Order: sequence, then structure tokens, then C-alpha cells
Amino acid sequence: MADKKILITGGAGFIGGNFVHHMVTKYPEYMIYNLDLLTYAGELAKHNSLVENPNYKFIQADIADYELIMNIFKKEEFDYVVHFAAESHVDRSITDPSIFVKTNVMGTQALLDAAKEIGVEKFVHVSTDEVYGELDFDPTTFFTEETPLQPNSPYSASKAASDFLVRSYHETFGLPINITRCSNNYGPYHFPEKLIPLTISRVHNDQNVPVYGNGQNIRDWLHVEDHCKAIDLVLHEGTDGEVYNVGGHNEKTNLEVVKTIIKHLGKSEELIEFVEDRLGHDKRYAIDPSKLEALGWKPEHNFDSGIKHTIEWYLENEEWWKPLLDKGVEV
Ligand code: NAD
Repeated sequence: MADKKILITGGAGFIGGNFVHHMVTKYPEYMIYNLDLLTYAGELAKHNSLVENPNYKFIQADIADYELIMNIFKKEEFDYVVHFAAESHVDRSITDPSIFVKTNVMGTQALLDAAKEIGVEKFVHVSTDEVYGELDFDPTTFFTEETPLQPNSPYSASKAASDFLVRSYHETFGLPINITRCSNNYGPYHFPEKLIPLTISRVHNDQNVPVYGNGQNIRDWLHVEDHCKAIDLVLHEGTDGEVYNVGGHNEKTNLEVVKTIIKHLGKSEELIEFVEDRLGHDKRYAIDPSKLEALGWKPEHNFDSGIKHTIEWYLENEEWWKPLLDKGVEV
């Protein structure tokens, strides 16, 4: 009999997939459920090693299918929910915002109702620093948990709406929740439409690398393993109702990231191609994670070693990402 039943939504995606492995490995006494619709961003090959594991179960379902989600919760009676499932690509939210509202807002609401109905012990909602809007280039300013939410893209607006819903289920119904807001993640199994894997694959294949605007936008890079440990800690030790920011203290301009990858792969910076800037492109994100650090977390990866390992992982695992690119991922 499993000690705890944990539902992980979006466990076929990048961060959720890494979190599934983290939890299955660290907690053999838990039953881990991975619920995912398998959109273009979800794929199960990363979990091939888990198929025979009796403590792991995959459920294919749409979080926005209210009745189905309610029935699954009533049947499986989860103790904990860790909610990653989302439409996650800002560029796609600019061309088609409606699916972001359906999945990120209505899907989260369906999960909250189901969690309330069966009385889960903890609902951890994985959100993003993008809900805070943007910072200017003053390196002494950071997002804290008190920073007002000012989302700028349809993606971040849909995530902010889901954050408010999660908060409201705590305030109105007493649902035990935490919200985590992390900076940009990198590491194994990152879908190849995103900046770092896209750059690695294109540089590796001697293709031009598109860089938005002048490349000076700053992101605060967080290794996905550090993020998984943070969520594990919040799930088990987080104070009920609290928000925790997760950041790696690794601020880099997009251009620095691209140049670092080019250098590691021994290629020429002539591959860099500056393209028209993204609409509403936020200037800078930077996280103050001191509240989470007070709980006992600190990032173990710095960007220099983390990016090196990540590049090596992509070179060794071309059979994972190449079919995704060949399927015609739009970038
Ligand atoms: P991802 O796009 O790699 O994975 C999302 C997963 O959700 C996919 O497996 C997809 O199939 C699944 N999904 C999408 N719609 C669904 C639906 N309707 N029902 C069930 N499953 C569905 O995303 P990611 O990068 O792993 O991000 C995970 C979470 O972390 C998201 O909530 C995102 O907002 C947040 N986040 C990500 C980053 C980052 O750098 N990647 C940064 C901050 C926050």
C-alpha cells in the first residue's frame, strides 16, 4: 500500500517530466500518477524506464475536461497534487491566446474543484516569474513574493489568472495550497522550441540562430534539477497558503547564452542572426529566492557548469530531440 498518492499534471513535459523522475527515485514508498494530455509538448519516451514500475501510472487526460478530472480524482483519491500542466510557450500565446485561457485558467479551475471535492492534503501550483511583469536593467532590483502581478503576455496573463484562482480556493474554501514562481529553467528534456535547446540543435547543425532584438533581454536561469528539489521541499515543508519564488542567481542576457553555447560547441558567432523583437518582450527577470532559502533550499548548479552538462546531454541524446524537430516543431 503506497504511503502517499501524488498526482503530477504535465509530467510528460519538460519540468514535470524531470519532477516525475525525481519523485519516483526519491520516494519509492509513494505512488506517482502522471496526468498529461500529450499535446505537441508532451511525450512519454522520457519515461520508458518507468513503464514497468508498479509505483508509476500514466493517465492521459485533458485538465480542462471538468467531468473527467472530477471522476479521476474521486477514483484515485490523491493525497497531493503538483500542477505543471500548461501551455507554456510565450510566442504561441501571441499567435493563439485562447488555448492558453482554456488550459491554464479553466484547466486549473477544474483541478482545484476536484482537489476541494476529495480534500487533498496539499495542492502545489507551479507558476512563473513572468506574472510579475518585467524589471528594468538595474541589477539591484528583484522580484519578491510581494511584487504586484503585472503580466505582459497572454501566457503570463493566463498564469497570473490561475495563480489568483489558486489563492482564492485557499482564502474561500481553505484548500491547502502553495504557489511557486520560478525563473527560466534549463536542463535535460527541454522541448526544442525553447531558446537553449533550440540554440544547441541549430548550432550543432551549423544553422543560423535567431536572436530577438539586440539580444540584451535578461533571464535568470535555473537548472531543472534545482527546481525539482525546490518543489519537493515546498510540497513537504511549505507553509500553507504561501507563495515561494525559485531562482538560480544566474542572470544572463540572451546573447550571452547563445554565445556561451556557440563557444562550447566550437562554432562561429557568425551563426547569430538578429531578428525582429518579440511583441511585448519583457526586458529583465530576476528572482529574490530568500524566502525559499530560509526553508532550506539553495541552488546546486551554477550556469557555467549547468550549461556545459546540458549541452553534453543534448549531444548524447539526439535520438530524443531530433524526431521532435523532424515532426515540424514551429520555432
Ligand atoms: P512544457 O510545455 O514542457 O510541458 C507542459 C506539459 O503539459 C506537456 O506535457 C503537455 O502535454 C501538458 N499539457 C498541456 N495542456 C494540457 C492539458 N490541457 N491537459 C493535460 N496536460 C496538458 O512546460 P514546462 O516548461 O515543463 O513548464 C511546466 C510548468 O512550469 C508550466 O506551468 C509553466 O508555466 C511553468 N514554468 C516553466 C518555466 C520554464 O522555464 N520552462 C519557467 C517558469 C514556469
